[in-house]
Amino acid sequence: MHEFSAACSIVEAALETATQHNVRRVVAVNVQVGEFTFLIPEQLEFNFEVASKGTLLEGATLNIDIVHGRIQCQECGYEGVAQTPGGLSPEIAMFAPMQCPSCGSSATVIVGGKEFIVTNIEVEMEGPDDQICPTEPAQCGGQAHT
Ligand SMILES: [Zn+2]
Repeated sequence: MHEFSAACSIVEAALETATQHNVRRVVAVNVQVGEFTFLIPEQLEFNFEVASKGTLLEGATLNIDIVHGRIQCQECGYEGVAQTPGGLSPEIAMFAPMQCPSCGSSATVIVGGKEFIVTNIEVEMEGPDDQICPTEPAQCGGQAHT
């Protein structure tokens, strides 16, 4: 159910943005998912489809951008991209200590890759013209409409 609650937060966040504008339909939702969230993209997509049913988001594509995890080593001070233990399923890897690629120590802490953000949404606007701007002119780069 990990993916389902994540999918629900995506739907909520995207809907909030969409309802603030005059949106007819959401075409795509772009998200950044940290490696250490251990969300499985395929399951996230599936749950997103389920959670978005009957909303403005129905039929929208979920674009998932995986952000690599970062660890810090307590032994040698190494900080950088983590190496996920090979051959382990995500469910097990979640509880396995990350090994320092520099000294091999397991005394590591996760310093990045737990984030989970909706970066932006792609929408179709209300009205005869899809290029029509929302109410605030500032969002159109200040260009006048004729
Ligand atoms: Zn180390």
